[in-house]
Amino acid sequence: MFVLVTNLCLMGCNKDNTQVIEGELQAHFSNFENEAAAHGIDLDISTLDISGYIQNIETIGTLGQCKSYSDGSQQVIVDEQYWNRISDEEREYLVFHELGHCILKREHNDNKDENGNCISIMQSGTNGCKSEYSNENRTQLLNELFIN
Ligand SMILES: [Zn+2]
Repeated sequence: MFVLVTNLCLMGCNKDNTQVIEGELQAHFSNFENEAAAHGIDLDISTLDISGYIQNIETIGTLGQCKSYSDGSQQVIVDEQYWNRISDEEREYLVFHELGHCILKREHNDNKDENGNCISIMQSGTNGCKSEYSNENRTQLLNELFIN
């Protein structure tokens, strides 16, 4: 598995942070930065103490996690089995959801429109709204995610 390691220690830095963003997560982290920029949010993930891992998640039904630690560091973890069987669009949805928690500090939003579709990528996955993600509603969902 390809691992990109970036040393984060910049000028005046006294903490030896090492950022790890595993394999195919990197492209989605970069897209998240690009979409943030397109929505007027200046974001450089390489300056944040956040890593991304593709791992087996033991908790049944949990497909991704944003973990925040007391030292301020954060980890996005996506379930490896799930990751390996989903499309690129579904991967983006999952990564953007977790980065929504970690970086944008968003909480879950299970509101739905009149057709029962989730109006937010930040839906919990447990409240029965339909979470379709397509070229048709991607723009709308990204506006909700970054502007909300
Ligand atoms: Zn969530």
